[in-house]
Amino acid sequence: MSRLPLGPSPGIGYGHLLSTSHGAFVTKHEWLVQPVPVERPERGWEQHRLQCPECGRTLNVRVSSVVRTRRRQRGWRWTSASCLALAVLCALLMIPSAEGLRIGASLGLVFGATFAFSLYMRLGVEDGVTMRWPTWTRLHGHMLRWPPGTPTRWQR
Ligand SMILES: [Zn+2]
Repeated sequence: MSRLPLGPSPGIGYGHLLSTSHGAFVTKHEWLVQPVPVERPERGWEQHRLQCPECGRTLNVRVSSVVRTRRRQRGWRWTSASCLALAVLCALLMIPSAEGLRIGASLGLVFGATFAFSLYMRLGVEDGVTMRWPTWTRLHGHMLRWPPGTPTRWQR
């Protein structure tokens, strides 16, 4: 399910946001993707400090072993699948039910579908690398990205 088979080093890199252009319908982000130049540990995880060559900002990343990465991918997949199952269940509940239950079911449908989708997207960048600091909300234009040319999940 991952875009690349798990190798000795992470295949995913970290992107530095070069520019954002707002089009009429889509916002286009241009990323400069740097590799994560470390080897996966034998077991558990290791923390590494990287410096973005573009802006000099320090990023702390946590690199997981192959076993741990596989477990994390499985975790995202299962949670995503259960949220989707919940959404489907709520959709089915909406058909015969009374007014009050129908509102609850439609809420469940929306939440289930939203979570399933975002977890599925999160699974797409799960390569055993997590940014520890700055946190997700304070990344300052950096995020985990696959290098350009990496096959998508559907191409494999
Ligand atoms: Zn940078």
